[in-house]
Amino acid sequence: KYNLSPNVSFIKEATRSYGLDKVGIVGTPCQMQAVRKGQLYPIGLRDVPDKIALAIGIFCMENFPYQSIVQLVEDHANTKMENVVKMDIGKGKFWVYTERGAVIQVPLKVTHKYEQPGCHVCLDYVSSLADISTGSVGSPDGWSTVFIRTKKGNEVWSKAVADGMFETKPIEDVKPGLELLTKLAKEKIDKNRKTLEERRNFGVNKALRDPYA
Ligand code: SF4
Repeated sequence: KYNLSPNVSFIKEATRSYGLDKVGIVGTPCQMQAVRKGQLYPIGLRDVPDKIALAIGIFCMENFPYQSIVQLVEDHANTKMENVVKMDIGKGKFWVYTERGAVIQVPLKVTHKYEQPGCHVCLDYVSSLADISTGSVGSPDGWSTVFIRTKKGNEVWSKAVADGMFETKPIEDVKPGLELLTKLAKEKIDKNRKTLEERRNFGVNKALRDPYA
């Protein structure tokens, strides 16, 4: 968790090398954008777009290249990655759990320099282009927040709920609820728009688009 995984490239492998007619993908908001772009402009993806049966996007504030997260763990949790059994981000901290039961908290402000720079111009926190987006933020511990965004997403979700695979509650009935999610999504947009603006002023605006402008 919390480093880059080339999920999108495996769609091509799954459909071409393994001949699958129907694939699902789970990914970050930027990967959902790549999937939709690939479906609209299937350059190098011939015969793949119609085989993407479901795209599930997660919430994402930032991400780390693998080498950076190894370094972060060594620098601030004073352990090697092979001793780590779980990592988490929550309550303003980066949490590292080791196999010997130690729990190390690292303040998020020291983790920023390890993040991948592309995340600092990313404006989507909630996978707006997915069929279904989900993440833990907004829901109590042990629950997930789920947004159904498309007809296809709704078909899959309704059937799964009808089959008893998920227990659901309206988000209005739980704490911290939509308020926290909205706050974090807005914080990401505001913070990263500043970086976009800095880069624009620096003269590298050509490849960067701000959909909220
Ligand atoms: S912050 Fe944006 S660019 Fe970075 S991994 Fe998450 S969705 Fe992708």
